[in-house]
This record gives sequence, C-alpha cells and structure tokens, in this order.
Amino acid sequence: MIENTKLLLSQRDTLQGITAAMRAERNSHWGCVVWLTGLSGSGKSTIASALEGAWFKQGKQVRVLDGDALRQGLCSDLGFSPDDRRENVRRAGELAKLFAESGFVCIAAFISPYRSERSLARRIAPQGKFIEVYLNAPLSVCEERDPKGLYARARSGELKEFTGISAPYEAPQSPEVELRTDLLSVEECVEHILAGVNALI
Ligand code: ADP
Repeated sequence: MIENTKLLLSQRDTLQGITAAMRAERNSHWGCVVWLTGLSGSGKSTIASALEGAWFKQGKQVRVLDGDALRQGLCSDLGFSPDDRRENVRRAGELAKLFAESGFVCIAAFISPYRSERSLARRIAPQGKFIEVYLNAPLSVCEERDPKGLYARARSGELKEFTGISAPYEAPQSPEVELRTDLLSVEECVEHILAGVNALI
C-alpha cells in the first residue's frame, strides 16, 4: 500500500514538473502562436492550411485554429458587434495560448480587425512567442476573390457589420511579418512565414 502511494506521488511530481523547456526539448522546437490577420479573402485559411501541412512534414507539433470553425463551436454564442468580436478574439487568444504552452506551433487564423484585441492576444500568449502575420491584400482584390460569397452578401445588405464594407479593419502597424497576398503566390507566402518563424522556435 505504502509502495503504491509512493509510486503515485512520484508520478504526480513528475507530471507537475513538466516545463516548457522539457516540451521544447522533446519536440525539438518551442511552442508559439502564429497569428494570421487580414480581411476576409486575404488568404488566412489557405495559408494556414498550407503552413500546417509544411510544418507537419517537418515533424513539428502544429495545429490550426480557424475563425470560421471556432464560430461553429466555442464561439457560437457570439455575433459580429464590436464587443462580440473582441470576446471572440479573447477566447481564440486563450485557446492559442494553451496550444502554445503545450508545445504546439499554433496557427491562429482570425480576421481580428481591432488592434487592441490583437494586442490582447499577444499579451495572453507565452512571452516572446507571438508572431503577428499581416496578410495584406487590397479590399478590391479580396472582394473580387470572394471565396465564400460573403462580400456579395455584404454589398446586398444581407450581412451586416462586415469587415471592410460596413465594419472597420485596423491594419497592423508593426507586425512581425507582412505579406502582399495579391502579389505573392501561396507558396511564396508560406516560405516567408516558415523562414521567419523557424528562426524563432
Ligand atoms: P480568408 O481565410 O482570409 O477569408 P481564404 O483563404 O478563404 O481567405 O481565401 C483566399 C483566396 O485567395 C483563395 O481562393 C486562394 O486560393 C486565393 N489566393 C490567391 N493568392 C493567394 C495567396 N498568395 N495567399 C492566399 N490566398 C491566395
């Protein structure tokens, strides 16, 4: 009985003692948050998915958090008012932090239109492990792409408070990475981000 208790205690101590450095050593990289921001249609989902595939092939622990998917589940109670958008990003930031603390490269793909909430996501993330990537494409290009048909619905008035049309987008002032997705290919964007982030983790 005493032996069993000792064993349980020693197992518990070991589990409690797992540090970020131990996870990094096992994974051969640190956890981090790669935060993709940009207008709808700027390429967040496309680039997030391509990045995830590339990092997975490199043997990294990687996971995408996509704004559209989160709105179906964790954030299904939220709409698109400024307060709800802030709460949406706060929850995304908390979730991204948990992944990063668990040793993952967490790719967070969210329009996240307000500077203040992106700053909050940065403050929530493990210190020095938040990489803001601004996917910059002119509104006219995003609207022309309109991959989900959302701009058409926003222009017709069916969708209210749509970023770029009837709600603001505050462009990042000093992101770690900025890419013109209307001028670069998906592959070129992915290469830039891989190079920038791999040097940090
Ligand atoms: P978002 O997730 O930001 O709303 P999507 O990734 O769903 O945007 O859509 C972007 C569209 O633009 C896709 O149809 C994609 O194929 C196209 N595209 C063209 N060039 C690029 C690029 N360099 N990066 C990302 N997407 C691009």
